[in-house]
Amino acid sequence: MIVTRFAPSPTGRLHLGHAYSAILAHDFARRQGGRFLLRIEDIDGTRSRPEHVKTIIADLAWLGLSWDGDVVHQSQRLSAYAGALDRLREMGLLYRCYCTRAEIAAASLSAPHGAEPIYPGTCRVLTRQNAERPHCWRLDMARATAIAGPLTWQDHGRTIVADPLTAGDVVLARKDAPASYHLAVTVDDAWQGVTDVVRGQDLFAATHVHRLLQALLGLPTPAYHHHRLLTGPDGVRLAKRHGAPALAALREGGSNGLALATELRVGRVPIGATDT
Ligand code: GLU
Ligand code: ZN
Repeated sequence: MIVTRFAPSPTGRLHLGHAYSAILAHDFARRQGGRFLLRIEDIDGTRSRPEHVKTIIADLAWLGLSWDGDVVHQSQRLSAYAGALDRLREMGLLYRCYCTRAEIAAASLSAPHGAEPIYPGTCRVLTRQNAERPHCWRLDMARATAIAGPLTWQDHGRTIVADPLTAGDVVLARKDAPASYHLAVTVDDAWQGVTDVVRGQDLFAATHVHRLLQALLGLPTPAYHHHRLLTGPDGVRLAKRHGAPALAALREGGSNGLALATELRVGRVPIGATDT
């Protein structure tokens, strides 16, 4: 049985790009008599808002999408992430990192502008630990990849060789949250029995890390279907466009959600839907 999911973070309102992604994941499952799940990725307690969850649910219903079973909230799944973290810690693959953002930025001057800098590994070699000092937990990527060995995944039926090393020592538990995006997504996709991950090309790089975590934690690997990102008539990515309207604004303005979904299904962005 095919199982797909849509996994928005309720840190803001959904835009056309989200609608496109949700529709593709929904249709992929429905076409094959499968299940489509909704997961709210609200581990970031400082940025997630309950009112955004309500809006997301209303937006999806307006687009004509229905999901199976209960909506899963990652904020209710923290003990599962803690268990996965313990396991990796026992394998000797995690270390405490006390660095501030500014310190990391200063130590990795070569990071391209705007890109998340690759962690320079400063705390990997610290022998004295201080649990009282604010810290996150990082994955020792060199050790982890050595243990896991060569890994691949299927993307649109093509074999991709995973290269997690280039992501550096990623954060698996944050200073301000008990799990990072990478850990929570990997644990939950397995726990929910997701067979096919349909999501935007912007998350392709993250899949290298997710594939490694699956191997380390003994979890199954779904098939992936990274899709192109929607662009406006001028070729600019919608998510990057200034003033691309939220779905809620279109909905409240009286637009027809089903008609919008029909256009998005054929990859068309309706004129007028890109400007406020
Ligand atoms: N929560 C992530 C986001 O909103 C997506 C997670 C995923 O599809 O893997 O960007
Ligand atoms: Zn550090």
